[in-house]
Amino acid sequence: MDVIIVNPRSEKLSMALWENKAIEFLELITAAVDGSVFVVITGLLAKKISDNVFLSSSDATNTYVNIDYAPLHDLKAEMLISTGKTMENLPPPVVKRFVTQEGNTLEDLTIEGLLEATLPSRTTFIRRTCEATIVGIVNAEGWFYNCCPRCARKVRDNEGTYRCENCGKDATDFKQRYKLIVRVEDKSGMTTFTLFNKEAEQLIGIPVETVINNIPQDSSIGNIPAVIKNVFGKKCVFDIKINAYNTERGYEDFTVYRLTECAGTHIEDASKQMEENPAKKRKT
Ligand SMILES: [Zn+2]
Repeated sequence: MDVIIVNPRSEKLSMALWENKAIEFLELITAAVDGSVFVVITGLLAKKISDNVFLSSSDATNTYVNIDYAPLHDLKAEMLISTGKTMENLPPPVVKRFVTQEGNTLEDLTIEGLLEATLPSRTTFIRRTCEATIVGIVNAEGWFYNCCPRCARKVRDNEGTYRCENCGKDATDFKQRYKLIVRVEDKSGMTTFTLFNKEAEQLIGIPVETVINNIPQDSSIGNIPAVIKNVFGKKCVFDIKINAYNTERGYEDFTVYRLTECAGTHIEDASKQMEENPAKKRKT
């Protein structure tokens, strides 16, 4: 969601709020019904693209509405003086899911539709949304990886140094990030989605370092911690990238750009599912 902010000198700045940050913002704004709404948004990233500066939400972004905060009171008083009235209510915002930077809403596909999708010529990838439920975790490569502190690509462990082929450099340390490969299902079929750090953390609710620090010493990478299995049964709208790897080479492993969890869909009895082989399709 793009929000345009304007200062008293009529200078404009565009602020992109992504996924749950946009939803959080809309919910708070919609709930604040009395007169003008004063918002403080923290933890934004400032980006410069050619000569334009944009603000963008990050994991650290928080929205505060009509809080008791001195600069807000000053702003309120200033506006009252300059306009002689408190501002009128804005019309209620319309919630739009996954709007691309060009401002188009992405086309929704079923899993069957994803599997049958083709790329238009001279296009390297397309993006579509797909609403599906997570029914399992593919655990062949574990659920996190060691990444380069500079570019976030996977590093190769080389007896104490960590080689990033992308940067062409060795690093003495590395970061850890989620890479969670999940099986998803809808009425039309089943496929595999890859959730990288941000999206996996969004669903799990805990940063990867915290989960790793709480793994028992004798546990192998093959054991998935219970907290990660909490993703089972979650129904989400996934913003998916479809590329030639999927359409021509036939790999089902789709990368997730963003996701929104559908409210109230989590299956209560998750303990039952943990005992089953998560890669196996469950009969209903
Ligand atoms: Zn690198």
